[in-house]
Amino acid sequence: MTVSSIEAREVSVAGHQLRCQVCDFTRFFRREARLSTGASAFGQDWTNSKAECFVCEQCGYVHWFVRTPHVASSPEDTSLAVEIETLRRRLEAEYDSELEHTH
Ligand SMILES: [Zn+2]
Repeated sequence: MTVSSIEAREVSVAGHQLRCQVCDFTRFFRREARLSTGASAFGQDWTNSKAECFVCEQCGYVHWFVRTPHVASSPEDTSLAVEIETLRRRLEAEYDSELEHTH
């Protein structure tokens, strides 16, 4: 088993294939980041929120997806909340199926 192998892969967000906004590429490196720096721009609720980043393999453009319960519970952001929740479930399901696969 290689721990260090990071490979770009295709990503789906809320049922749509993610495409790079800049170069239209469809393979991304996944990163996780904590929104501690610059959180004041969004208010204290965003402190310690997690963000998922998908970095375009070709041009390096970073696509951000924020996961925070405060966004999900905001009534005026229903569609955004649904997208975030769908993404979260997808990632969890993907992770689970990977675990089952290795078993
Ligand atoms: Zn790109």
